[in-house]
Amino acid sequence: MAGSGGFREECGIVGVWGHPEASNLAYLALYALQHRGQESAGVVSTDGSSLWVHKGMGLVSDVFDQQVLARLRGSGAIGHVRYSTTGATHLRNAQPFVVGHRGGGLAIAHNGNLVNAHLLREELEGRGSLFQSTMDTEVIVHLMAASSRPSTRERLVEALSQVKGSYSLVLLTERGLLAARDPHGFRPLVMGRRQEAVVIASETCALDLIEAEFLREVEPGEILEVDSRGLRGYKAFRAEKHQCVFELIYFARPDSQVFSRNVYQVRKAMGRALAREHAVDADMVVPIPDSGVPAAIGYSQESGIPFELGLVRNHYVGRTFIEPREQIRHFGVKVKLNPVRGFMEGKRVILVDDSIVRGTTSRKLVNLVRQAGASQVHVRISSPPTIGSCYYGIDTPTREELIASCRPVEEVRDFIGADSLGYLSLEGIREAVGGKAGEFCMACFTDDYPVEVPLEKPVHQLSLFQEM
Ligand code: SF4
Repeated sequence: MAGSGGFREECGIVGVWGHPEASNLAYLALYALQHRGQESAGVVSTDGSSLWVHKGMGLVSDVFDQQVLARLRGSGAIGHVRYSTTGATHLRNAQPFVVGHRGGGLAIAHNGNLVNAHLLREELEGRGSLFQSTMDTEVIVHLMAASSRPSTRERLVEALSQVKGSYSLVLLTERGLLAARDPHGFRPLVMGRRQEAVVIASETCALDLIEAEFLREVEPGEILEVDSRGLRGYKAFRAEKHQCVFELIYFARPDSQVFSRNVYQVRKAMGRALAREHAVDADMVVPIPDSGVPAAIGYSQESGIPFELGLVRNHYVGRTFIEPREQIRHFGVKVKLNPVRGFMEGKRVILVDDSIVRGTTSRKLVNLVRQAGASQVHVRISSPPTIGSCYYGIDTPTREELIASCRPVEEVRDFIGADSLGYLSLEGIREAVGGKAGEFCMACFTDDYPVEVPLEKPVHQLSLFQEM
């Protein structure tokens, strides 16, 4: 249900250095990362003397064609797919963000959200900086420009020492590629190799697509630099891990390796734990596709209740789908999901999904399954109740809009119209993800935010450049 209008993916990034078809590889890798952002896409390449840029609104397939890719010359490239978390949605905010810097060019692609960007921006503007976009990412570039350190890497370290929040980023100049991950490691970032070329990407599914070998994660607080002198890693900041557990619950692709874990296996483990915590007599386990599938398989395997694809997703409903007016609004959910006719007639159905956000989509889905003839509908959620917003790179509704923030479980059950409702506990999540307690951010479940959050949304984000 998160995938149906609740928490939204943030951004996906890629960097390639040392390959004659760097921009083509970056473009292909963006296809694998499309689930992390569908509003804009861009690639910047370098041939050692210039930066070549192409960005556009829409999906990767809308933005690039063969002529465009042929113009993106050189053996170094970075790419970005965006779903905006900060800054309005329009081309000016599409990434990679490119500026002139010390006689050359500099391009940056960022996944995350800087919680103190508005304060830094005010300070920088007070000192004469002129901003081109409403993106928090631009703050990093201005801080680098203000630094007197001799190298690009040192200027980046100085800039990053002043920002707070989440960043996984890649940065390109005519001379090299840099990658950095914040000390908390909120967002994933991995490194691989394709022959001699170094590849950096948000998720391993991007490495798989371009047949790059996965080497390791970029560590929290680490900066990587690759240029004509080879690849070097620097521990720039002391790591204090708070990796986003929602990447494992919902955001990352199930075929990815994230935070040294196999996402598919973790989701199945969540489903198994859910079956142990919230057992119920039923005839079938039905996932909300696609996000609920691995957890539903786990639930089915643990409970011995058959797994069935009772709902089928239409994969061709793009982001441009317009919700119909109120009188016919219930068609909205049917455009995306349709029950297999006659299949659930008279059956007791366990409906498995990853989260409930506002509750409205869940209510429609429960109703859809009842209309399909189910005699009972038991909803099982493979994460705890979502009670807080995210400030670290995920677009979320406000706290007031989150149904679990203001209603106990029994009232949520009543609202969505299910016969029973069970959420996976915090202990269940911890057990499923494994590792040390505390190395994950779970703030949207616990209200315990690892990095201090702003009191209110900065005004300039709302007022500047509101183009239609
Ligand atoms: Fe992830 Fe939630 Fe933490 Fe945001 S608040 S980083 S969505 S776990």
